[in-house]
Amino acid sequence: MIPAAFEYHRPSDIAGALSVLAEHGDEARVLAGGHSLIPMMKLRMADVPHLIDLQDIADLKGITIEGDTITLGAMTTQHELITDDALFTACPIIREAALQIADPQVRYMGTIGGNVANGDPGNDMPGLMQCLDASFTLVGADGTRSVPARDFYESAYMTERDDEEILTQITFSATGAGYAYEKQKRKIGDYATAACAALITKDGDKVTSAAIAMTNLSDVPVLSEAAATALVGTSCDAAAVKAAVAAALEDIDPTEDNRGPVAFKMHVAGIIISRAITRAWSRA
Ligand code: FAD
Repeated sequence: MIPAAFEYHRPSDIAGALSVLAEHGDEARVLAGGHSLIPMMKLRMADVPHLIDLQDIADLKGITIEGDTITLGAMTTQHELITDDALFTACPIIREAALQIADPQVRYMGTIGGNVANGDPGNDMPGLMQCLDASFTLVGADGTRSVPARDFYESAYMTERDDEEILTQITFSATGAGYAYEKQKRKIGDYATAACAALITKDGDKVTSAAIAMTNLSDVPVLSEAAATALVGTSCDAAAVKAAVAAALEDIDPTEDNRGPVAFKMHVAGIIISRAITRAWSRA
């Protein structure tokens, strides 16, 4: 389908983008890679009279690693996340997860900022950002604020971001934790039926910390503190993994859709969470 007519704006700095947002209010939307927003416009599920393309704003681009702090500009593409070797060294789970998003064509255009700002429960990066305890920087007319990824998601497509704010960057710490991103999908390029990010640290043969977050198993990404608690202090043996999976399943609330009924999704989720924990432990 062809989208409804819209006016195209292409500012060269953040101030310019904010001023178009302020002028047109909820009639305006920013455009990043366009691989979620344009399909919605073509399907006439999003009506956007004013489209503000962010691609000329240099301040929104780039990957910076200073000491232990990693900063991703919102307009960094998923392809750039995959191919940046320094990022892989500092936080290898990013590459593993990004490689499981869609297909190369989508990843060349789709951005980390669009992926986390979108609020689609099927997007893979929000759960991962909760697992990493990332912070999102939002800039608006009233200034700049930072929101933890763990507090950002309210319900499907509803986030803590105000309509007139732009997400500029994502910040988190480098980690040497054992890691795994596991995803079950119906076919290559598909969104998750169930996905799980796991990070585990250990001392000797005991788990000292864990973070377990799930994708597309509720209307928001879900970080399961109970699953992490079930693992800490154990040697990640079969009983501990089983307890952590049971705890994680208590925290999700999948709904029936074309990826299957609830019982099927719970079954798939159990397998995916178990695989993620086991593989993260093997790398800890
Ligand atoms: P856009 O589509 O440009 O924007 C998405 C939304 O975020 C819009 O509402 C926009 O206004 C807002 N936005 C964007 N940037 C900002 C910003 N800086 N500040 C404030 N708001 C902003 N994603 C997955 O995670 N996993 C998948 O398996 C997957 N499969 C896909 C398969 C196909 C065939 C397609 C077409 C897409 C798929 N996607 C998947 C989505 C893809 O990753 C998108 O690129 C991503 O969700 C959105 O990023 P974008 O840069 O394209 O954002």
